[in-house]
Amino acid sequence: MAQISSVDRHAIVIGGSIAGLLTARVLTDHFERVTILERDSLPMAAPAPRKGIPQCTQLHILLTRGRQIMEELFPGLEAELIDAGAAVLDMGTDVEWLNPFGWGVRFPSGFKALSFSRYILDWLIYRRLSQFDQIQVLESSYVTDLLTNAAQTAVTGVRMRQRDLDNPRQVQYKDLTAALVVDASGYSSQAPKWLQKIGYEPPEETVITTSMGYASRLYEIPAEFNENWRGVYIQAAPPERTSMGVIYPIENNRWIVGVCATAPQRPANNEADFLDALQNLPSPHIYDAVKAAKPATEIGIYHPPGNRLRHYERLSRQPQGFIAIGDSVCCFTPIYGQGMTVAALGAVLLQQCLSETALTELPSRFQSELAKVNAIPWIAATSQDAKYPSVKGLERPPTLMEKAIGWYMDRLIQLTTKEPQVTLLLFNVFHMVQSSDALFQPSMLLRVMQQLLMPSSAKTAPKTHSS
Ligand SMILES: Cc1cc2nc3c(=O)[nH]c(=O)nc-3n(C[C@H](O)[C@H](O)[C@H](O)COP(=O)(O)OP(=O)(O)OC[C@H]3O[C@@H](n4cnc5c(N)ncnc54)[C@H](O)[C@@H]3O)c2cc1C
Repeated sequence: MAQISSVDRHAIVIGGSIAGLLTARVLTDHFERVTILERDSLPMAAPAPRKGIPQCTQLHILLTRGRQIMEELFPGLEAELIDAGAAVLDMGTDVEWLNPFGWGVRFPSGFKALSFSRYILDWLIYRRLSQFDQIQVLESSYVTDLLTNAAQTAVTGVRMRQRDLDNPRQVQYKDLTAALVVDASGYSSQAPKWLQKIGYEPPEETVITTSMGYASRLYEIPAEFNENWRGVYIQAAPPERTSMGVIYPIENNRWIVGVCATAPQRPANNEADFLDALQNLPSPHIYDAVKAAKPATEIGIYHPPGNRLRHYERLSRQPQGFIAIGDSVCCFTPIYGQGMTVAALGAVLLQQCLSETALTELPSRFQSELAKVNAIPWIAATSQDAKYPSVKGLERPPTLMEKAIGWYMDRLIQLTTKEPQVTLLLFNVFHMVQSSDALFQPSMLLRVMQQLLMPSSAKTAPKTHSS
């Protein structure tokens, strides 16, 4: 077994996707050297999908809070995304939103979202990280175990299996030591097993699934396209309607078109089923737009595993020198668009913990505070998923308070069919720019009360959009 080095101020990040990349950036402020270990080869020359992030061909919405954090970590990233062709959308004027109560009101909101393919974001971040001398990326490096000290009180590094890039059949095992190891290896992380092998309990897990399936495809936007929208979001309305559809413009004058439904209606990867799924959505917008458009890719399907929370914060014993972040700890049903932003919030938390906490105290403090960061997005995703007939894993029926909050949220969403002010507030809360407490401010409570006192015919806007 080759011993590479043993540098005190060295940190290792397992996984080179969003959580790992943002974590590596944060670690450069606190460690002399940072090594990212990635089982794949990273496409450095140009943006491209890669095997280790199978979801990266599917539609990815970056919430505004996530974009703000990435801009703080990499100043100028937003401008680079726009230069690379990301579409800048005003969520009020450019996007048609069909929610369970009708079409969202269209208005100049000033609330901006960028739309781009997932792999262009990763690529721009690789490029930025490659400018840091402290960071080394070891590709084709698959972590297989954690290393520990003789007393098994601390993780001291990792064991990895490396493939020779010139001769992929050639494999060797190496040990790499570090003062801190961060697991950012995503949903399929083996960290609980690695911990067990060095004498620790694995974290408890909460798993809530709905058996959703995704299908996405890129299309060239036809030159003659001339609708009054640039994107359409047809939201699911469970339990009755469990399918949703999205069309958004991205770089290179393309649309990304996605459909998502729960079993047994999960979309398949053949043309007829894909178009059928689009045609069966409750509005013809997306189907009409793409039926004559030229596909730019094959149909990619993905069956995401669902919501899973690993409770590292509940471990009675944690080794020093090891933490976990991103999807490895908390993974969501993707339709709520939270994963990358929650990974970014974890990176910000790590920044704060490293500034305020000794390395010996880091694991317990970081994991317990990360559990608090994850709590609200977790409730947001799982309380929506609870409405799907296919949901599995709910530990208990909703409490009266949860039902009341769900009812109140529905009233606010109903108001988005006619009230710009409510819609703008919801954009801010859904994009994690404002706390959900803002939904309960007196002016919103008043609007909900006024709505209740209205005659029922005046409560919602018409179901078909005429604007
Ligand atoms: C269909 C789908 C749609 C989604 N849509 C959105 C969206 O709209 N908005 C949003 O914010 N999020 C979305 N997400 C979630 C988002 O993709 C993830 O939250 C995001 O990629 C951050 O995950 P991560 O970095 O923690 O892990 P991952 O992205 O899973 O990356 C893990 C990395 O670790 C590497 N790795 C794994 N094991 C090892 C090992 N043993 N050794 C070395 N390397 C290893 C992998 O190759 C990979 O690079 C979606 C997810 C899915 C499945």
